[in-house]
Amino acid sequence: MATLMAAPGAELSATGITRAGDNYVHIRKVRLWENTRREFREALEGGVLRGVIVPTGSTEQHNEHLAMIHDTASVTLVAEQVALALYPSVLVAPPVSVGISPHWMDRKGTLTLRKETFLNVVFEICESLQIHGVKNIWILNGHGGNVAPLKEATPQFRRKLGINIQFNAYWDAYTPEIIRKYMESNRAPGHAAEFETSFAMAAFPERIHWEGVDYEKAKPRLGIKTPEAAAEDEQFFKEAKLASTAKGEAMIRIAVEWGVKRMREIIGAGA
Ligand SMILES: [Zn+2]
Repeated sequence: MATLMAAPGAELSATGITRAGDNYVHIRKVRLWENTRREFREALEGGVLRGVIVPTGSTEQHNEHLAMIHDTASVTLVAEQVALALYPSVLVAPPVSVGISPHWMDRKGTLTLRKETFLNVVFEICESLQIHGVKNIWILNGHGGNVAPLKEATPQFRRKLGINIQFNAYWDAYTPEIIRKYMESNRAPGHAAEFETSFAMAAFPERIHWEGVDYEKAKPRLGIKTPEAAAEDEQFFKEAKLASTAKGEAMIRIAVEWGVKRMREIIGAGA
């Protein structure tokens, strides 16, 4: 039967996409950058590798308590969980860890790329994959400032490279009903507020640092340009206190389940 063609412990679904079954899969196996060239080549040649997820994030201020890598780390985690669920059909490319963040440059530590620079980096990663024979790419984003440029550019990437390239932010998983149900602030993604802090509590609590935080004392030194932005920053800080591990776990699970469905469609639709 069809299962004879699949890797040991994997099964072949009706669409020809292999699944890992119940076997443990080491995270390295879904990280393109931890694969060897032999592994990548053989997966491509055997038709086992059906698609690659390209995560896009940022390195930017995340208020007083969250590490600046949050957007990159969160989207990469979702991408990896999706790839593990679809193993061995899907690999994750190294994340683009600096995004388009000019709107946060008044707060110290933020790094930003010009729109053209950022889009060129994402395009050339997709182009590299296309040259190797990858037919399906999902650009999965974790930073708000990247959304509009990537949405606009994805159809052009598709035309130029002649392969199936799709784009989403991982929070496209969240309907207004889901956000109302799980977020007391009724806000997701927001910025370093209830949602992102909950995500970090569930996924990487070592990136949360409340010790030494004194918002009132820091206020005069934050350098925020407009009173509106300052009010929003303080609002997000207050909402972060509503975060919990359980909320993060629920929201991550929803994003991963949605992502698995979406990536199944993407690799099912292409060649
Ligand atoms: Zn963020």
